[in-house]
Amino acid sequence: MCSTCGCNLTPGNRHLLEPPVKATRPGTSPESVLGGLLAANNRQAEANRARLDAHGILTINLMSSPGSGKTALLEATIRSMREELRIAVIEGDLETENDADRIRALGVSAHQITTGTACHLDAHLVAQGLDNLDLDAIDVLFVENVGNLVCPASFDLGHHRNVTLLSVTEGDDKPAKYPVMFRASDLMLITKVDLLVHLPEFSTNRAETFLRRLASDAPVLTLSARNGDGVAQWQDWLRRELDGYRALTHQKRTLTPRIQPDGARPHRAENPQVRFVPVPGASDARIQRR
Ligand code: MG
Repeated sequence: MCSTCGCNLTPGNRHLLEPPVKATRPGTSPESVLGGLLAANNRQAEANRARLDAHGILTINLMSSPGSGKTALLEATIRSMREELRIAVIEGDLETENDADRIRALGVSAHQITTGTACHLDAHLVAQGLDNLDLDAIDVLFVENVGNLVCPASFDLGHHRNVTLLSVTEGDDKPAKYPVMFRASDLMLITKVDLLVHLPEFSTNRAETFLRRLASDAPVLTLSARNGDGVAQWQDWLRRELDGYRALTHQKRTLTPRIQPDGARPHRAENPQVRFVPVPGASDARIQRR
């Protein structure tokens, strides 16, 4: 979570700050207010997960940079598995219904959340999405998060698994540059591998090595939604996760995703050149480099 940009204020949780909470009140700070919002998010996430578990809906949070192929992955998954699984989608973007329209065109229910300025989804927004879906008619719910390799990793939505996409056009060192996101991944999916022939500088082995240096044992798969390479392995992962989830819910237990609740701390520790300094007179904190 960015501790300085106030990005954990979303249309779904803004009401938690009413009446307006002034950061200048004794004993409060912008970070303490935002920390309270994160705690409220976690409570809502637990409620979402209990609701999903009551309906037996495995829920997968897709995270990545913008343009890495999340919606294309969903289209390929729906086309190849719709006879086998009842799929629904919650889409997150700052604006437009474009992605939800692409999903609906395939005959699958999709609810679009537009966050306005917020760079991630949160549990309150996802709760509103659940209100708009027929929960008795879903086996697997995908949440396509806002394209962003930072903040979405810090928010529990009440889902069960995190999948992070890394497209080959982005460079193989993204796990090293964005450790908070990739530590939170239950699966790293390297996408657009049909383009590898044009991108000899991208090494899937190197991308996996960077992931392992984060002490992550998450599986790594490669996939091309365009030509279908790797889709069968992705389907196998989904089936295994669904089987495991159903076995757990049968025992009144559940799955929880890898969540890194204090994303700001490791970012700071690993990037000592960046110092967070409040600017006098400014309404928010600014980043000052030295
Ligand atoms: Mg998309």
